[in-house]
Amino acid sequence: MVIGEKMESIQAVRGMNDILPDEAGWWQKVENAAREVLGNFGYREIRTPVLEKLELFARSIGESTDIVEKEMYAFEDRNGERLALRPEATASIVRSYVQHSLYTDSALQKLYEIGPMFRHERPQKGRYRQFHQIDAEVFGIDGPMIDAEMMHMLSLLMDRIGLSGLILNINTLGCPECRQTYREILKDFLTAKGDQFCPDCLRRRETNPLRVFDCKVERCGALLESAPLLIDYICEDCRAHFEAVKDYLEKLGTRYEVNPRIVRGLDYYMRTTFEVITDRLGAQNAIGGGGRYDGLVRDLGGPDVPAIGFAIGMERLIMLLQQEHREQVRALQANVTEQSSTSQVNVPDGVKITEPSRAPFVFIASLGEQPRASAFELVQQLRGRGLEAEMDYEGRSLKSQMRRADKSGARYVLIFGEDELMRRQIQLRDMRTKTQRVLPLDDLVESMLRIDSETTER
Ligand code: AMP
Repeated sequence: MVIGEKMESIQAVRGMNDILPDEAGWWQKVENAAREVLGNFGYREIRTPVLEKLELFARSIGESTDIVEKEMYAFEDRNGERLALRPEATASIVRSYVQHSLYTDSALQKLYEIGPMFRHERPQKGRYRQFHQIDAEVFGIDGPMIDAEMMHMLSLLMDRIGLSGLILNINTLGCPECRQTYREILKDFLTAKGDQFCPDCLRRRETNPLRVFDCKVERCGALLESAPLLIDYICEDCRAHFEAVKDYLEKLGTRYEVNPRIVRGLDYYMRTTFEVITDRLGAQNAIGGGGRYDGLVRDLGGPDVPAIGFAIGMERLIMLLQQEHREQVRALQANVTEQSSTSQVNVPDGVKITEPSRAPFVFIASLGEQPRASAFELVQQLRGRGLEAEMDYEGRSLKSQMRRADKSGARYVLIFGEDELMRRQIQLRDMRTKTQRVLPLDDLVESMLRIDSETTER
């Protein structure tokens, strides 16, 4: 290397994003809301590995789905074992349910998982190669009540997160029996259209005709306008189930629209399927979706336990949330400056908006080597007692420390130098009222706790 030559920097893998500190608050907000709402509905967290045996996804999602055929990060490890990064969470959760016999006491389990998924798709706004999902699954209930409850919970979660105006689309895919009848009818329709469809759809016609509804090619979409619909061919039991789901949704006051074209990109779905969509994110309009998958637990080697689940895409949710809150947050920024600082939030599409940052309760500004060492101890003690405390680690001028304290939005600043240390006293400045008083250094932590509780009470 030539001396002085700059090393080339390493970039993240295409389609895989860093969630930077300025953005992380949005993620925490969404995750916290999800944990709260799911917890209230009796869901417990499960955490499965991001890497699974390839066969798990091939067997569950389906060999001839886009996800398995084209989008999976699959590879052989050093022992020649065929593995894949999970493209979704349901298969892993079912694997875990079966592997650990989570059905032993009762088949009923309500589980959720939050984490990254991986699909080798063409990256664009709202579509990434690593993305995150909130995933909820219920095992052991086959009645329509739980289908409605799940969708109701999903709407409630959106409300809690602060998103309005989303549309819940529902459909039924029937059971394997009614689907068999329909598959033939659809195949006849596709065959009658000759080779007007794209090469992918022509292939799907032979392997997995229902998948033609996943096709993004405009010409195919137009041709499918007149296709026969599965909903018109479902059996009595499936129809009764669907009618009951709709009835319960109405009783719960959850608004929905029946959309007979939702087929979902995975083979394991049956009966109730649903999607939450928005008209505000362009092409990537699905925020989340899910459905019933009664045969999957059995197909993956477990007992014959019915199940239903959904997944919400967190990137899209957060993009929408930021978009929706932009105006509101700007207004907030206007009247927040005298109370606390604001931090920039980068929205994935490049728009910058701001939201109030979590400001420390107290900032310690110290002057001199010895006071700085004492400040270091003090800041840890305050944090140890649950107070948000910050300090200057670098021995800057008092002026620049005060500037930093102000910028951080700290409510109080503790100021001390050699003199104060000798007298065992410290200056406390209230950044809101701009007043200052002296506190004894020796029981400072207790004093600050007292001030904190008085401030909170007010
Ligand atoms: P799916 O499992 O395909 O039904 O996806 C469920 C949700 O995950 C979608 O509605 C999206 O919000 C999100 N999602 C799926 N694929 C991606 C992706 N490649 N990038 C970002 N979000 C995605």
